[in-house]
Amino acid sequence: MTRWRYAAATDIGLVRQTNQDVLYVDDALAIIADGMGGHAAGEVAAAISIDIVCAGFRENQNVEGLVEAIQNANRAVVSDARGNPEHFGMATTIIAVGLTYDLEGVMSPTLVHVGDSRAYQLRDGALRQLSEDHSVAEEWVRMGRLTAEEAMVHPRRHQLTRGVGVEDTIAIDVMSISALAGDRVLLCSDGLSNELDGDTLARLASAPNGLEMAVESLVSEAKVAGGRDNISAILLEFDEVN
Ligand code: MN
Repeated sequence: MTRWRYAAATDIGLVRQTNQDVLYVDDALAIIADGMGGHAAGEVAAAISIDIVCAGFRENQNVEGLVEAIQNANRAVVSDARGNPEHFGMATTIIAVGLTYDLEGVMSPTLVHVGDSRAYQLRDGALRQLSEDHSVAEEWVRMGRLTAEEAMVHPRRHQLTRGVGVEDTIAIDVMSISALAGDRVLLCSDGLSNELDGDTLARLASAPNGLEMAVESLVSEAKVAGGRDNISAILLEFDEVN
């Protein structure tokens, strides 16, 4: 068996009029969707996607189930936007960890990801980013066209190169997470990772006073730092690993 405990929080932040982040977490699936689009459309894209991914994963608790569920979410968001002019241009990120079964029935954590929401793994107080942002600036860093420092202030750092609901087909990053008992995984929207640097994230997310307190302090510190976007965080701690 692989088991985790979890805590989660989402907050509108200090500037935005709506919270277009949506999250869901249970014993086998943790997911954040950061919706984009005019009026409330981003929240619609995020909510549709979360519903479809939860339902799909419940039916099929393996890597393929997770990937197909995101493809289905993409189709649903694209088709909803085509049918509703007020939803035109809506899209969402998705970052999710599911406890997936392989063919031998062994359960392990799998990360799936589209967009610029992030996953980090914490072990012994150290933080490692698992996901790569699908944003113009971060793709340029990986190509060597920008330094990481330049990317942090680059005007195209928020422009996504991939998103759920953008095109008919979607490329999904899939990664198996190798976890030890005691490891934590932090999922977050960019409203958290843009406000707090890696050292602060590491310190707050690995604080020993329990997951609830850690998540609350992450959100409140992101607001102290500016709270310019919606802020969402899910913190998982592995109790038992195969
Ligand atoms: Mn955001």
